[in-house]
Amino acid sequence: MNLIQETKFIMDKYGIKANKNLGQNFLINEEIVNGIVEKATISKNDLVIEIGPGLGTLTSRLLERAGKVIAVELDKNVLTILNDRFKLYQNFELIHQDILKTDLKELIQSNFNHEITSCKVVANLPYYITTPIIMKLLEEKLDLKSITVMVQKEVAQRLTAVPGKDKEAGAISYSIYYYSDAEIVLSVPKTCFIPSPDVDSSVINLMLLKQPRVQIENEAFFFRIIRSAFSQKRKTLINSLVNTKIISSKQEAESILSNIGLDPRIRPEELSLQDFVSLYTKIKK
Ligand code: SAM
Repeated sequence: MNLIQETKFIMDKYGIKANKNLGQNFLINEEIVNGIVEKATISKNDLVIEIGPGLGTLTSRLLERAGKVIAVELDKNVLTILNDRFKLYQNFELIHQDILKTDLKELIQSNFNHEITSCKVVANLPYYITTPIIMKLLEEKLDLKSITVMVQKEVAQRLTAVPGKDKEAGAISYSIYYYSDAEIVLSVPKTCFIPSPDVDSSVINLMLLKQPRVQIENEAFFFRIIRSAFSQKRKTLINSLVNTKIISSKQEAESILSNIGLDPRIRPEELSLQDFVSLYTKIKK
């Protein structure tokens, strides 16, 4: 039985219909499933957290490689499938919960031991919450080695864009770049899923840095500046910072920019991460 037949068989047997509201697009391409596991470079020393196991397609491959797999799934309708498929695996744990409400720090810490020494996140993400999931994984400062996840193609380009260099960069690219080395590792056509989504997808791999790329005392304020800079489309940096009250006047903004050697007409996407550090340092004073 190939993966398409297997997926349809499981859906029929358990009377499952893909739930659009939960972002359910099930993977049916063997090569892609194996490719994700390959790119995540999983070993028996790894705890893998899988977000949204669905019918268990990716889970079954992860279980062969990892020391332990903890699958966090919100949809109660697929729990029986997952339990039936994997109850004989000693290294499988299923948590019925919203990933955004899961205490991942505690989960990771309580599963580390002399054999399981690192943690990786692997998932075909529910697209409606891609950004909050990735921000949670990064901002909670978890003991994570890498994040290997399927996202929409356009989102993948933005998430992996190098700020100040790639035109796709947006506010979120600075966060990703602050915490990790990010790259697109697989291109995935929409025909690799049932139901087929509207757009193509990509798998991205984020290798978490041991320390953030730059030293920032007040991260919340630093990222507020970046979000404000990008909050108004096609505006110059100065206009956005003044309109969002990060800087009180145009004159002050011009003086700060000239002080750090930036053109007053510069647009936010032209700033590197280091440029934002210089800006933050001046505004903070
Ligand atoms: N891993 C499966 C695959 O690749 O075929 C399914 C992936 S599907 C794109 C996304 C999965 O995330 C679904 O199983 C869905 O029920 C689950 N999900 C949606 N929202 C969730 C949430 N807040 N927390 C945990 N899982 C969620």
